[in-house]
Amino acid sequence: MNKVVIVTGASRGIGRNIAYNLAVDGFKVIANYNNSEKQALELKNNLEENGIEIDIFKADVSKREQVLKLIDFVINKYNRIDVLINNAGIAQEKLFTEITEEDFEKMIKTNLYSAFYTTQEAVRYMIKEHRGCIINISSIYGITGGSCEVHYSMSKAGIDGMTKALAKELGPSNIRVNSIAPGAIDTEMNGNLSEEDWNSIIDETPLMKKGNPIDITRCVKWLIEDEFTTGQVISPNGGLVIT
Ligand code: NAP
Repeated sequence: MNKVVIVTGASRGIGRNIAYNLAVDGFKVIANYNNSEKQALELKNNLEENGIEIDIFKADVSKREQVLKLIDFVINKYNRIDVLINNAGIAQEKLFTEITEEDFEKMIKTNLYSAFYTTQEAVRYMIKEHRGCIINISSIYGITGGSCEVHYSMSKAGIDGMTKALAKELGPSNIRVNSIAPGAIDTEMNGNLSEEDWNSIIDETPLMKKGNPIDITRCVKWLIEDEFTTGQVISPNGGLVIT
């Protein structure tokens, strides 16, 4: 049977591109969404028109009880989870002094607790199978920090900490855990950037172009196939950040 892959936050942007392309490649994809039902149904319909199956599943992954329903659905249908891609996330630009308790809680719950919940539930099955691949979508801001995005940067640095620690703990169970830390990618998350903003990012980027969701999907495909990479933070960013 082809590998079973859960992609969180797959209704739009990077997650949607990953889910679409993995389904085209023959993976059994479960595309999670929360608010964007219309876009999730479009994704399913686009694929089905071409004879390709995909499951879509609504769950707010910042809530453990909804994550449990997502994992139950996958286990009942496929009885395995080969790959978990923790992609769901939100961003917010605010001065540090203006971040409210609610802003902070929403950010950490959506970007960090979500990965804690999904991973904790999924690895129970991966450990039993002695095989698995977890890919956490973090950000260059988890590495460099982003001005006016302190809570976002904290959540992404947290994800990278989880990647490194869990890779050590789960390596002996043949489960690989890696982060992909994208640079600036053209999605709705960056809808606030003007053409001028993009041009200045492109000017600072050695490869002299902006990133597209497919750049992250290519990296995901490589990490799924790879057998000797774990605990790493891989950053497709056009050379904008070189560590
Ligand atoms: P996007 O276009 O805004 O899409 C975000 C996705 O996350 C949507 O599908 C959304 O689903 C989902 N989501 C948000 N909260 C959720 C929740 N509580 N439960 C389930 N799904 C939820 O963002 P993107 O640019 O594709 O970003 C995807 C990931 O890449 C994020 O983790 C982001 O931090 C990271 N990233 C992006 C960039 C960039 O430049 N775009 C750079 C670095 C890292 P619904 O709409 O259905 O709620």
